[in-house]
Amino acid sequence: MPGKKRLFWQLYPSYLLITLISLVAVTWYASSSIRDFYTEQTISDLEARARLFEQQISEHIDPLDAKTIDQISKKAGKHALTRITVILPSGKVVGDSDENPATMDNHADRPEFIGAIKGNRGTSIRHSITLDKDLMYVAVRLKRRAHTIAVVRTSIPMTSIDDALKIIQVKILLGGLVMALFAAILSLFVSRRITSPIEQIRSWAESIARGEFQLKPSVRASEEIKALCESLSRMAEDLRERIDIGVRQRNEIEAMFSSMIEGVIALDMEELVINMNQAAAEILGCDLSAAKGRSIQEVVRNTALHEFVRETILAHNAIEKDIPISFHGEGLVNGHGTLLRDAEGKQIGALIVLNDVTRLRKLENIRRDFVSNVSHEIKTPITAIKGFVETLRDGAVTNPEDAERFLGIIEKHVDRLEAIIEDLLNLSKIEQESEKEGITLVKSRISEILQSAVQACHVRAAHKEINIEISCAESMVEKVDPSLIEQAVVNLLDNAIKYSDDGGIVRVEAAQGEDEVTIAVQDQGAGIDKKHLSRLFERFYRVDKARSRQLGGTGLGLAIVKHIVQAHGGKVLVESTLGKGSTFTIHLPFA
Ligand code: ADP
Repeated sequence: MPGKKRLFWQLYPSYLLITLISLVAVTWYASSSIRDFYTEQTISDLEARARLFEQQISEHIDPLDAKTIDQISKKAGKHALTRITVILPSGKVVGDSDENPATMDNHADRPEFIGAIKGNRGTSIRHSITLDKDLMYVAVRLKRRAHTIAVVRTSIPMTSIDDALKIIQVKILLGGLVMALFAAILSLFVSRRITSPIEQIRSWAESIARGEFQLKPSVRASEEIKALCESLSRMAEDLRERIDIGVRQRNEIEAMFSSMIEGVIALDMEELVINMNQAAAEILGCDLSAAKGRSIQEVVRNTALHEFVRETILAHNAIEKDIPISFHGEGLVNGHGTLLRDAEGKQIGALIVLNDVTRLRKLENIRRDFVSNVSHEIKTPITAIKGFVETLRDGAVTNPEDAERFLGIIEKHVDRLEAIIEDLLNLSKIEQESEKEGITLVKSRISEILQSAVQACHVRAAHKEINIEISCAESMVEKVDPSLIEQAVVNLLDNAIKYSDDGGIVRVEAAQGEDEVTIAVQDQGAGIDKKHLSRLFERFYRVDKARSRQLGGTGLGLAIVKHIVQAHGGKVLVESTLGKGSTFTIHLPFA
């Protein structure tokens, strides 16, 4: 797990390396110093021995007693574990502790001899051919009255010096190793002390990054690390505040966005959906959760919308257009497209705002149609009246028979105008009442209302010898506006009579359901083709215009029925079979 990059692994090996290099350097320096010191000591020691020996042989030099000198040398050498050689100024060896002087070379060329002759003492470390090992030589001059009479040379094998040095070096090395171990442990401790608070801060910072703003860790560390910790803590606090603000603002925007009635879609330059609200998903009939990040072509199958999005992205100004949609039946949405820009003002996509205007456009159409229908309906009788008035003025008035006939026609058209205006006034009165204060409902006996309606139609029914049958329980009571319901029933009865053959039967039947009262008006008349049924309750809608006019219809009767029933919170339905008759049923929910 510990990677090379970790601070600990950067610190610890460096500490260790520094310690080891220092130790090696110290060991090397100490051992070479000791070696120098030891060599110097050995030289002094050998010189002292030579000086001591010098006194023993000085009387045998002049006159020369080589044999005694050699004997003394051998004895002293054995005693002192030192090789002793006595050399005459000529270089001739006269005594040696280890060898026979007679077989030895002339020593005049030996560096220690030359050193002793020149100064008082000569030293040399070299390989002895005689003994075949490295030796340290110290030679001192033996003088008598300023004359050199001999050179005494002492020597010991270097191995003994080296052995002694080795022991010391081993000790230094062992000490060094122990120190290195201590240093390693100490470095470990120090490294840990430095890195562990940093580790703590690191994992704290990571938890901050994950959004867990727990309290800062209590770090036991240097001033710098503590200061860093403080700064981080302040930063975390700052960050938390900013995140809180950000989250709050985002939630507010989300809430606004999702509670908007208008559908909103944000798209990027590639036409991928950045965001979309619930209203947009509902208007377009797509899945909101799967929309984000997908192209608009994938999300909504509507080429008009795709084109609108493309136009918005390419356009430099806001654009507006009505887009047909076919979700929930045929509909129309009004789209507003604007460019989406980032903080620097660079275009990053498009924002589409959609308004479902299906109902609005329908209402606009109805209103337009209504105005033109009203004008048309009124224009016909007025034109007729005007025509007959002119005919009368042109002379027909003088002929009493014509005059009587024309006045009769004028009267009929005036009646028609009156009927239309009366129906229109009724319609607008019902509309206004239901929209503003609402209609006043009173507990009423349904049978009484039906009887009164039948009474009103009595003359017309009798005229066509049509029998009206009522079926209604006397006890049936419901909270309604009795005069309005009577008017609705009269309108239905009026139609039933109008579109029934002479001698037919019309039934009025009231029934009480679980949660509603129904009033059905049934005839056995002409019936209505299925294709007209959905539009039957529209104002001025007539299956057969000429026939309706001829029968004195205004085309508003069923529209008035619908409005009355809607004002009561109910609905009116029609069932009809061509040639067999129709049944109009008013459904009134219990108030
Ligand atoms: P109108 O004044 O022409 O009767 P309505 O609004 O009352 O106007 O009726 C609209 C149309 O519905 C009528 O023109 C007629 O064609 C048809 N209609 C209404 N009631 C019946 C019915 N009982 N039988 C056949 N057709 C009917």
